[in-house]
Amino acid sequence: MLADAAGFADARTVPLVIEQLEVGLLQNFCEVIGCPETGDAALVDPAFEVDRLLRVARERGWTVSTILLTHTHDDHVAGLDEAAAATGAVVRCHPVEVAVVEPLAPRVRAVTDGERVRVGAFSVEAMFTPGHVPGCVCWYLPDNPAVITGDVLFVGGCGGVGYVGSDPAAMVDSLQRRLGGLPEHTRVYPGHDYGKTPTSTIGWELAHNPAMLADTVERFCDYKNVPVPMPTR
Ligand SMILES: [Zn+2]
Repeated sequence: MLADAAGFADARTVPLVIEQLEVGLLQNFCEVIGCPETGDAALVDPAFEVDRLLRVARERGWTVSTILLTHTHDDHVAGLDEAAAATGAVVRCHPVEVAVVEPLAPRVRAVTDGERVRVGAFSVEAMFTPGHVPGCVCWYLPDNPAVITGDVLFVGGCGGVGYVGSDPAAMVDSLQRRLGGLPEHTRVYPGHDYGKTPTSTIGWELAHNPAMLADTVERFCDYKNVPVPMPTR
């Protein structure tokens, strides 16, 4: 953050503020993202302890207008109905997750891959990253830079590929090409506190994470101890 002689930050140089909160009993991370210029804010995966997430926003003077979902496994959306009702926010998620979200939060709009969702003066870019489940979205904050990875990438690991709809080959592509293609200094905010540190960087993960080092489908399936999928052609 740059500051002038009086110590005040120049708002134009301060990107989105990210508050990472560990909630619930499964070491889930939720994020509250706020624009320091406008006070507009977004919640990511409001799973548990919604009152705590909303208190963080309130204490910062932020107004939550958007809820971003990485996917709809229960431990990422358990508090979605409460958060949506309390804020009136519009939920943004992968198209295949809309039908799951609608009963919890009627104001839901699918994103497209690469779409930039505005948060105040900045934007958050949707990256479709299937593999854990087909509807996984990572949320990239290019101005920070930072990426919120849900259950795709953890610090030193990655999400499971044994769920309904899981696809190890798609997971390798998401990890190697999509996330691995981000600038190395991009800060990684995972969906669970499973690593040695709460966040890391893409560069650190590329160098140390066995899920990233397993750069072919065969090596990845060996690492995850799952069968190598049969070719579809
Ligand atoms: Zn999951």
